[in-house]
Amino acid sequence: MDDRILSNELNREDESLEFSLRPQFLQQYIGQDRVKQNLNVFIQAAKLRSEPLDHVLLYGPPGLGKTTLSCIIANEMGVNIRTTSGPAIERPGDLAAILTALEAGDVLFIDEIHRLHRSVEEVLYPAMEDFCLDIVIGKGETARSVRLDLPPFTLVGATTRAGLLSAPLRDRFGVLSRLEYYELDDLTEIVVRTGEFFEVEVTPEAAEELARRARGTPRIVNRLLKRVRDFAQVQGDGVIGKEIAVEALERLQVDRLGLDNIDYKLLKGIIEIYNGGPVGLHTIAATIGEEPQTLEDVYEPYLLQIGFIQRTPRGRMVTDLVYRHFNLEVPKR
Ligand code: ADP
Repeated sequence: MDDRILSNELNREDESLEFSLRPQFLQQYIGQDRVKQNLNVFIQAAKLRSEPLDHVLLYGPPGLGKTTLSCIIANEMGVNIRTTSGPAIERPGDLAAILTALEAGDVLFIDEIHRLHRSVEEVLYPAMEDFCLDIVIGKGETARSVRLDLPPFTLVGATTRAGLLSAPLRDRFGVLSRLEYYELDDLTEIVVRTGEFFEVEVTPEAAEELARRARGTPRIVNRLLKRVRDFAQVQGDGVIGKEIAVEALERLQVDRLGLDNIDYKLLKGIIEIYNGGPVGLHTIAATIGEEPQTLEDVYEPYLLQIGFIQRTPRGRMVTDLVYRHFNLEVPKR
């Protein structure tokens, strides 16, 4: 799946590029205006009071800028950031070690926070609420609990699946921000910014074409730009114009709505084998040889967003838009 150019998950090729491309401050962070404006107020208020920022939960699909925002929060607050992830913290002791090493005001970023072990999560509750750790010393009858003070800190949690977060954990976040798929204008601006970083000329029409096919996701638009730049440099004069962009995107099998062969397999499978649906998630996943979880987390969100798929109590259905996109006759239902 990592080879899929339209995958919104981070792959190895992205890593160094992403690090250098990350905006450092709120002002450079394009789009997500509502989230940005609110965070700006909370950050300014916390600074005025010389307090750490409230704990922040960022949620939304991969590649929309959650990690980027967490670094921006630390930069804006003028503090250090310590980054980890839910599955990386295996035991309560691991989290205790991280927490005790923080300095006052620091940001602790936990990616995939919905994947924290329950025992680890329980250490987090008093840490988030009262900035303290409850440690049990000794065993059996001699065991006693000791309370350890922690420096005040800000937890920034990121998740693609807010629904999987336990209620006690969710309730301890003061700020909950949902990131949305990006608007065309914002993604176009991101292409221009990345083009400047690459020192490559991208015409406005080409930037918009790339944005249109990037599934509302900055990570994808940056990756597409990188590949299209290769075509422009090898087959053209280095300038990314609309013609070379379209040609390259066709070669990469990314269609004008940002759908690729996996989307086609899924949508055509529902049409050709199940008459357009409804068909259960597990059934369609087995038909196209994908994990149901992957289908639900990775492929479906964008198809739902553009109104190509509907979730009904009896399963997934394709909408009339899909028939039109494939130039097929819309069935009478
Ligand atoms: P997530 O943590 O949600 O998976 P990231 O924060 O890693 O996403 O963002 C992926 C990449 O997309 C970043 O490296 C950055 O270059 C780019 N990016 C994300 N959001 C923005 C934005 N608002 N403006 C500019 N670039 C962005």
